[in-house]
Parts: sequence; C-alpha cells; structure tokens
Amino acid sequence: MELVTMKELMEEAHRGHYAVPAFNVCNLETIQGVLEEAEEMQAPVILQTHWSEAYYSTPQTVVDMVRSVGKNKRIRAAVHLDHGSSYEDAVRCIQGGFNSVMYDGSQLPLDENIRILKQVVELAGYAKVTVEGEIGTIGQTSEMGEKLEKSYLTSPKDAQKLVDETQIDCLAVAIGNAHGFYTENPKLDFDRLKEITEVVKIPLVLHGGTGIPEEQIQKAITMGVCKVNFSTVLRKSFISEMQAFMEADPENLGLMDILDAGKNSMKAAVKESVEMCMCQGKL
Ligand SMILES: [Zn+2]
Repeated sequence: MELVTMKELMEEAHRGHYAVPAFNVCNLETIQGVLEEAEEMQAPVILQTHWSEAYYSTPQTVVDMVRSVGKNKRIRAAVHLDHGSSYEDAVRCIQGGFNSVMYDGSQLPLDENIRILKQVVELAGYAKVTVEGEIGTIGQTSEMGEKLEKSYLTSPKDAQKLVDETQIDCLAVAIGNAHGFYTENPKLDFDRLKEITEVVKIPLVLHGGTGIPEEQIQKAITMGVCKVNFSTVLRKSFISEMQAFMEADPENLGLMDILDAGKNSMKAAVKESVEMCMCQGKL
C-alpha cells in the first residue's frame, strides 16, 4: 500500500473525471473491509475518522492499523481526519500520522472560521498534510427542513473569500446534502454548485453521500466534486448483518465471526460507493 496525500488523489480524480470515496472507519474490521474491497476494485480510497473515532483508539493506532492491514496490498490510500473540531484535533492527528485533516469551523462566523483554518493550513504545510475546510452548514438529515433554508447552504461569495484567504486544498460544500438517512430524496442545488465552481478552483467535497441518488452524485462529480463521503451506509450494513447473524445463532459467542459477518456486508456498501464515484480501476 502506498499512503498518498488526499490532495494528490483528488487532483488525479479531477483530471480523470471521477471522485475518490471517503469511508468512515473506527476499528480493525472497518479498515479491513474498506482496504480489501479497494484492492479488489483497484480503486483509490480515503479512510477517515471523525475526531471522536480517532480518540476512541488514538490517532496513531488508526494509522498503524491502516499501515498494517494495507501492507502487501496493491492500493493507494489517504488517512484523513473528518470534521476536526479544533486546531488541537489537527495537531494530534498530524502527530499521529494522518496525512490529511479537516477543520470544520462552519458553525462559526466566517472570519473566525478563516482565522482558525489559516492556523491549520500553516501547521499542515510543514508536515505536507492536506487540509479540508467547510462553509455552509452540512447538518443532519433529521434537520433537513430547517437546514435546507438558504442561509445554511454555501454562499459562493463566502466560499471564494474563505478559499482565497486560507489557501486550503479542498472545500466541503452544503448544497442540499446532509448526514444520515434522507427521509425524502435529496435534491442537490446544482445552480449553486455551478456558481461555487465559477469562483472556487480547488476540489470540492460532498458530505452525506449515503442516499443521494447515483445520477446526482455523478452529475456533481462532472461539475467538480472530487471526494464523496460515505459513513451511514457502511455502519448500517455492518450493524444490520451483525444483528442478523446473532439472531440466527444466539448461542455463538465467536466475536470474530460476528464482526466478520458485519465486515463482509459492509464491503458490499463500499463496492457500491466506489461504483458511484466511478473510480474502480483508477489506481
Ligand atoms: Zn460530514
């Protein structure tokens, strides 16, 4: 396995008109599931952990597991901090060996978001680490009605200011996407996405990939989205299959067997996501 920066993977994706899927992982089995499927499909992937997942084991443990599981596999991957909540999160994850970090200051006033992102970019520059920022608020699907108010969506003008002033490598945008399961089919705001791409020339990131119809994801990719995040769909498939396994064989206390059932089910979700991003065979 070659650990490469997310910036490099996204630039290749941009040139090749596909996106790199980013999968949330938190333990050995989720890392195995993503890397095994990535190797089978010869697809570049991003393994990412939310800050709370990184601290669950420690950032260095996450990186060590990725390196160990990926050893002798023919794959290229990046390890990324998803929704870092502070400058300190970025410091700890970079110290632990992450080669990409997100700082999510989207809940803060624009100037404050810019101020902290600049600090993260400066830190990351020394370590050759990729930085993702966010502007507009990507909420939870449960808050969709509220979050779909125009004020929560990414303003192209603010996005341009943030990117120009911080020099981040990629930007997460809120264009009608959200985290979790959508209760009704989401409709991405492609007019807004077009306006953003006219003034922001770095790769864009689409969070909340679970449940966005394939044609909308692929249209967003043709317009400049180079990274699509998938988390809910992986956890749902993993947990559902573990539950089914335990219900079918309640006396079986083979923890390894239970986790393996979840992992194998999750791999099917990884495969589907890779296909949506059109990155199979793009190593
Ligand atoms: Zn997200």
